[in-house]
Amino acid sequence: MSTPGIRPLVAGNWKMNGSRDMARKLVADLVARAAGSELPVDLLVCPPFPYLSVVADALSGSSLSLGGQDCHTAAAGAHTGDVAAAMLRDLGAGAVILGHSERRADHGESSGLVAAKAKAAVAAGLTALVCVGETEAQRNAGDAEKIVENQIVESIPSGIGFADIVVAYEPVWAIGTGRTPTVADVAAMHRHIRALLTARDPLGAVVRILYGGSVKPGNAAELMAVPEVNGALVGGASLKAEDFWGIAEGAAKSAS
Ligand code: PEP
Repeated sequence: MSTPGIRPLVAGNWKMNGSRDMARKLVADLVARAAGSELPVDLLVCPPFPYLSVVADALSGSSLSLGGQDCHTAAAGAHTGDVAAAMLRDLGAGAVILGHSERRADHGESSGLVAAKAKAAVAAGLTALVCVGETEAQRNAGDAEKIVENQIVESIPSGIGFADIVVAYEPVWAIGTGRTPTVADVAAMHRHIRALLTARDPLGAVVRILYGGSVKPGNAAELMAVPEVNGALVGGASLKAEDFWGIAEGAAKSAS
């Protein structure tokens, strides 16, 4: 078991992919698989905003939960194109991904902004799934742990309840590339993150720390068995029910 007492979470980040029809079929397939088994793993599906409602309906009555991919810092107001945390909650979401490296890169999101979003998310009743991770240049320069440490310190607001936080360690260079860090590197980073969290709050000992970056059915069991890895944030492989389920099965192996 990767951390005794922590139930793994496998979260699917669909990013800007799919269609209404695909969303219905993919979720129906996952719901059928979940109904036929009792994996000791929590499953979260994070579709693009336009499909939240469709996915919420398809997930209804199942053990899977719904999440958003981002939210605004404000509760409501003049913010064209943005979505409030309370709107996600209203549609049945229980969580929201924040600070994904694609948002940090494409939208210039700073850790300070991510912290403000996390605060808004938790205030609206959502779990904030906060992403951190170094670039390849930062790792090659030997700065990976320091970069991730700064992101953790600055992206998780002070005073927030750690019961409402999930951290995803996602090396930027491993996202969508088919490359993954060594098991030893994943273990070292997760150990570092656990130490940072517990130094801040005793509840840091039970915050789920996910690994993300090219997780597939073929490498999931090995990655999920690493100490302090409590599940996965999955991009590309979350778009196929068979692959997402295969990853959940890999996570289940380290949970039992
Ligand atoms: C991600 O974007 O969060 C991710 C982990 O992507 P992938 O699984 O495709 O590497």
